[in-house]
Amino acid sequence: MKECPNCKTLNTGESNYCAECGAKIANGIIKEVINNNSENENKAYYLAIIGFVLYYIAPIVIPKLLTGMPKNIINASSSFVGLCPLAAIVIMIIGRNKYPQNKLLKALMWCIIFTITISLLTFIIFFMWFMASCK
Ligand SMILES: [Zn+2]
Repeated sequence: MKECPNCKTLNTGESNYCAECGAKIANGIIKEVINNNSENENKAYYLAIIGFVLYYIAPIVIPKLLTGMPKNIINASSSFVGLCPLAAIVIMIIGRNKYPQNKLLKALMWCIIFTITISLLTFIIFFMWFMASCK
């Protein structure tokens, strides 16, 4: 893809002139667009990995690291652990808006949706079982 310096249209193929406005497209522009894409791709992967760690790893690992610590530290960390999945969802939404093409961010989104659906279903089944056993 070559970005037109004049109208910012992305031109496909080997043409040295913009299909939209006819301006000459310099060779330097091509490199710049490719570099930006791979840089964005890296940022998107970092966001997705941070999201995965915050959602799935931090809530399991942090309490284990703190076993044996004083109670007030454990209490303070438990509220932080509760915020980790929320932070992961926020990062995922920001990432999906900024880099909608990134596959790892897409995977993160579906993993989070799947996990939330399973927990909701478990909760509903448990709630129905609880109501039935009360009668
Ligand atoms: Zn143009």
